[in-house]
Amino acid sequence: MQERTSPIQPAELPKILKQIHTEAQALYGRGKVASYIPELAQVPAHQFGISVALIDGSTYSAGDAFTPFSTQSVTKLFTFVMALKLVGDDLWERVGRDPSGARYNSLVQLEPENGKPRNPFINSGALVIADILTSRYTSMPNALLSELRRLTDNPHLGWNSKVAKSEIDTGHRNIAMAFFMKSYGNFNNAPELVLENYCRQCAIEMTCTQLAQATMFLANDGQDITRHGHPGEEYLSPSAARRVNALMLTCGAYDAAGDFAYRIGLPVKTGVGGGIVAIVPHVGTVAVWSPELDSTGNSVLGSFALERLVQLTGLHHA
Ligand code: GLU
Repeated sequence: MQERTSPIQPAELPKILKQIHTEAQALYGRGKVASYIPELAQVPAHQFGISVALIDGSTYSAGDAFTPFSTQSVTKLFTFVMALKLVGDDLWERVGRDPSGARYNSLVQLEPENGKPRNPFINSGALVIADILTSRYTSMPNALLSELRRLTDNPHLGWNSKVAKSEIDTGHRNIAMAFFMKSYGNFNNAPELVLENYCRQCAIEMTCTQLAQATMFLANDGQDITRHGHPGEEYLSPSAARRVNALMLTCGAYDAAGDFAYRIGLPVKTGVGGGIVAIVPHVGTVAVWSPELDSTGNSVLGSFALERLVQLTGLHHA
């Protein structure tokens, strides 16, 4: 593999992250914590964490980077990778790979498009992915957890049962989507079971440092570089890793994907818990978290922080 020099000067990162933390705090109050899942509304709004992990194994953090948060849609990245590894290109028979230009929980495209979701990173697409994994594993959320525990080298990751139950009880749009897709034959399992698995998936908690670590294989041509695990082991093929990054760039921020690509220019995946992970191919990963969301469901401080990091380090990829 060709050697590349990192645009990041690691020695400057502590100062840069501190500056971003200070600037970001001025934006508290500009967004709203997600409340459609009642348990998420309990999260104190004024929190902000950022972690940068470099492929040499070093990590730099600021703010609440060690506080666990609800990863929500960020987990769609990991379930997508698991499904891709399991079924390969057959996946694209059941889910598309184009931006939706609609909200993450929109149902409108499903009817004209015969129950085939636009991409794996919106709710409908992630439900189909959860269906694929439910067919394969006795416990799909446990299978996901063991992947994440391996990638973070942390056996203690788990889901928050209260958040999962809160969404199981109130996720009426997702329930509608699952049954609708079943009516088109794009769902093999009982929708109730897949929905329960999906809500547990979304309720998995991680810190910024853990999330940055867990996605490192995407910055490293698919190679897993867990600190104490199996350095250099291939988790995903280099070409598949490139494709996952392409999908993150085009579809990773719901209907704000174009805006993110313009402002930040990195493959990202966002979640309504306020987390965002960004990949800097051949350099490292960045995880940010702050619970207040903008109208597209993306973290206000999180997207600001990524934009500033790119400006201050010259990381823009696209
Ligand atoms: N569990 C959330 C839902 O299905 C995830 C949405 C998100 O993070 O975008 O509504």
